[in-house]
Amino acid sequence: MRLLLVEDDTLLSGRLRPELERAGFAVDVVADGVEAAFMGESEPYDVAVLDLGLPGRPGLEVLRGWRTAGNPIPVLILTARDAWHEKVDGFKAGADDYLGKPFHAAELIARLHALLRRGVARPHGPLRVAGLELDEDTQTARIPATGEAFELTGTEFRLLRYFMLHPGRVLSKTRLAEHVYDFDTERDSNVLEVYINRLRRKLGRDLIATRRGQGYVFGTEDG
Ligand code: CA
Repeated sequence: MRLLLVEDDTLLSGRLRPELERAGFAVDVVADGVEAAFMGESEPYDVAVLDLGLPGRPGLEVLRGWRTAGNPIPVLILTARDAWHEKVDGFKAGADDYLGKPFHAAELIARLHALLRRGVARPHGPLRVAGLELDEDTQTARIPATGEAFELTGTEFRLLRYFMLHPGRVLSKTRLAEHVYDFDTERDSNVLEVYINRLRRKLGRDLIATRRGQGYVFGTEDG
């Protein structure tokens, strides 16, 4: 999952970034509202964490700009503690959730997971799709029918989670790479193929089908 972290407090973003990466997010950090507006429009993020007090352009204006342009990205705003009016203004501008500073990274991550699960049939507990179960906390996959459990590397986890949140849909290599790697990582579609084949070897060949010239489908086409 691609995450845009917009925060001008570099101490805070420097502390959050590794925690978010450990939680399976490919993270881009920007510290300026103008750059945030641009990145949010040009990169296909899955979720954004947006500070409100920013140089360049206030966070609320950035958010309004995205919504006016029809960008539906889930946005969690970071507000000053107890500033209820910031929360109200944030929701009016199109925020999906908020967190008052200071906060624990674990709460931020739990809220982000919840935001990403919206619209998924089973919003709590491990993700379950196509006979496979993914525990996002331990980053392990299980086949409940056989009781087998599989450890996943960071990239395997990010890739499998993206597949499981979009079952039955044709996902191109470009799209997968865009959601699994951050902005600064070189995206090599051959490398992506290697990871897909590793997932197939671990979890079963039939789980991810190849659509020649189009991409990959996880699970069945009916979802
Ligand atoms: Ca700030």
